[in-house]
Amino acid sequence: MTNFRSGFIGIIGRPNVGKSTLLNRILDCDLAITSKKPQTTRNSIRGIYTREDECQIVFIDTPGIHKAKGGLNKYMVDAALSAMAESDCNLLIIDLPPSGSKKYLAGHQFIAERLQDLKKPVGLILNKADRLDNPPAHLQEILPHIDFDFKMAISALYGHKVKDLIQHLKSYLPVGPQYYPSDMLTDQAERFIAAEKIRQSVYEHTGQELPYCVAITINSFQEEGPRKEGDRGLIKMDASLHVERNSQKGMLIGKGGKKLKAIGISARAQLEKFFQVNIFVQLTVRVEKNWTRDQKKLSRLGYGSGKY
Ligand code: GDP
Ligand code: MG
Repeated sequence: MTNFRSGFIGIIGRPNVGKSTLLNRILDCDLAITSKKPQTTRNSIRGIYTREDECQIVFIDTPGIHKAKGGLNKYMVDAALSAMAESDCNLLIIDLPPSGSKKYLAGHQFIAERLQDLKKPVGLILNKADRLDNPPAHLQEILPHIDFDFKMAISALYGHKVKDLIQHLKSYLPVGPQYYPSDMLTDQAERFIAAEKIRQSVYEHTGQELPYCVAITINSFQEEGPRKEGDRGLIKMDASLHVERNSQKGMLIGKGGKKLKAIGISARAQLEKFFQVNIFVQLTVRVEKNWTRDQKKLSRLGYGSGKY
């Protein structure tokens, strides 16, 4: 199979432009968590797209690049920078306000320059094209001083032009072997995915700043096979939700435990959908003082060097 191509494509950009939505659309699966709030993605997440006899593309969804002073934010930006350096080709994902303000492009420009420095192919992807009246007309004018290999307008949310994009990306990959089995969607550990699903539920049930102060750890993860025919099996897990302060603990638990219960119900539904088995999940809230700014605690909670 001499024409088989394989490699890595980095999905890079500012927070909230739709990077994780694009990964999910490409894989046709809710692998990466997405939300209206910026900085939802904290780690690089690898999703594997395979077309037998054609190609295997590992897409790396990354945290949004923003000004980060230290702690968790720095970990997130570093993860994005190292993913772009590892990839064979990168996509700079941008969005524009519906009115198309020029000032807004300054934030994208910074990342575009970093990508250009790498001297690898870069595609400019204008996402959320569904919100713009005439996106192709905009495309020529966007970041004209950067030498992009191609420019494309898509809608990750609605799937517009996403297939064309994947098709186009094949030419930027080297000829190479199929690294992963055809049915493998990600090489992330199941525990990591489980923790992310719980975090997604936290985002859905809490407002304001609270989601930014929550980290999830999975303390136990036990799989039980089906007991009889037709039974789909069970995963039992025990997870901790770590917050920075006592007051946050109270908010996460809610009056009479209502909030935590709601988080548990939605986490269970999302976990069952993803793992296709029955789920039993036990959630406990713990205070880990100032974990977002403490290197040791960050590592312990999955945001340090070394794998989760
Ligand atoms: P990320 O931070 O770059 O990973 O952004 P997300 O994928 O979490 O998406 C941020 C927000 O933009 C979410 O509310 C998405 O539903 C929304 N979004 C993503 N792609 C599109 C799109 O193509 N069109 C529209 N209208 N919204 C989108
Ligand atoms: Mg994201």
